Amino acid sequence: MNIKKTSFPRIVIVGGGFAGVALAKKLSKQDLQVVLLDKNNYHTFQPLLYQVSTGGLEPDSIAYPIRKILKDFPNFHFRLADVEEIDPIKNKVITNIGKLKFDYLVVASGSETNYFGNTNIEKYSMAMKTIPQSLNLRSLILENFEDALLTSDLNERNALMNFVIVGGGPTGVELAGALAEIKKGILPKDYPDLDTRLAQIHVVQSGDNILKGMSAKASQKAEDFLEKLGVNVWKNVRVVNYDGKTVTTNTDITFETATLIWAAGVKGANIKGLDAEKFITRGNRLLVNEFNQVREFNHIFAIGDVACMTSEEYPNGLPMMAQPAIQQGDQLGDNMLRLIEERPMKPFVYTDKGTMATIGRNKAVVDLKRFKFQGVFAWYVWMFVHLFFLIGFRNRMVVFVNWVYNYVRFDREARLIIRPFKRR
Ligand SMILES: Cc1cc2nc3c(=O)[nH]c(=O)nc-3n(C[C@H](O)[C@H](O)[C@H](O)COP(=O)(O)OP(=O)(O)OC[C@H]3O[C@@H](n4cnc5c(N)ncnc54)[C@H](O)[C@@H]3O)c2cc1C
Repeated sequence: MNIKKTSFPRIVIVGGGFAGVALAKKLSKQDLQVVLLDKNNYHTFQPLLYQVSTGGLEPDSIAYPIRKILKDFPNFHFRLADVEEIDPIKNKVITNIGKLKFDYLVVASGSETNYFGNTNIEKYSMAMKTIPQSLNLRSLILENFEDALLTSDLNERNALMNFVIVGGGPTGVELAGALAEIKKGILPKDYPDLDTRLAQIHVVQSGDNILKGMSAKASQKAEDFLEKLGVNVWKNVRVVNYDGKTVTTNTDITFETATLIWAAGVKGANIKGLDAEKFITRGNRLLVNEFNQVREFNHIFAIGDVACMTSEEYPNGLPMMAQPAIQQGDQLGDNMLRLIEERPMKPFVYTDKGTMATIGRNKAVVDLKRFKFQGVFAWYVWMFVHLFFLIGFRNRMVVFVNWVYNYVRFDREARLIIRPFKRR
């Protein structure tokens, strides 16, 4: 990998997401050699992926070069590498570009879509976990309307204009709201020859409520907002199969659609070598102690989505969200210094700063510890928080200008089929 061993301890971090970047920023200032490995050369701001899928933002505005984030630190090294295996005994990682020894290893590889073993759904549905997947979805949505315009078969036309989103969490809700706004504001102008009123957006949720991690008020308000936008919300319905045409559920409800979007779950993106049953727990996550150490090891850590740290308050582990990832990365930076200097480490305590979701223009729900609010003010708060956490001044400016433009013009100009979607 062309990284010379120095007298400093070498810390290898796998993954440049929220957790890995927070940790690297903290450690790179110290007398340590920090090596960050990621299969992409950019950090992805996943909370805004749905805006890329729906033509609201260009992909470049939610991605940021990892090298640039840490360019000022001479002890920091980045390598574009897919980590294929971890050897925790010989202390090395095996990647597609070679092997690398470590003194300390931090797994921050995030999560991946969980299809719960349903191979048909995995094969035919669309996921939205990465920028390429979001671009695929953007292309497919637009291609569907181009095809709907050409077909004279009414059933086929309806299926092309039907969108079924599985999962009523923030991702499903935000995507449904954005699609509903496209249906209302963009499609009639772009496709005057097509009766776009027939386009249907469905959110299918297996439980009693959407946004189930949020307050009952937020959940109800989000449902009201979606209904106002014309989205069909199906609760207590579980999708069981999809053959590329028909979605079947555990009830007698079925949907004919060319687009099933799977936003119903994620699991830890664990890596071979640490995947034995003794290391993993619920959702394929690495079981860690209060210092983020992986069971049996003092020198191997996991942070962010891939780590499962349980406590009385969070018996199933911390939520798979950006805040726990950032806070763990930040705190582990301090703890690793303590460990190296043979001082006692401090247990991690998660500070819940709140949860929010936007449903559309002037429509959002925000749950903070003390205050819960919905509507226009919540929407401004949502926008401010997302701009604040985006990495890079340029990205913040581009996103802000895009949002103002889209708001004033009722538009989404990135509705481009740059790379046509080809089904596997
Ligand atoms: C569509 C969507 C919307 C979301 N919205 C919100 C939201 O509104 N609020 C919120 O708090 N959270 C949200 N989340 C969740 C949040 O994005 C994650 O919890 C957060 O990204 C976790 O950070 P992480 O550092 O653990 O992992 P990630 O940010 O996923 O980073 C993992 C990194 O590891 C790399 N990697 C993985 N495997 C390997 C390997 N084998 N070799 C090399 N590199 C590897 C990946 O390329 C990636 O860069 C959303 C997620 C999605 C998908």
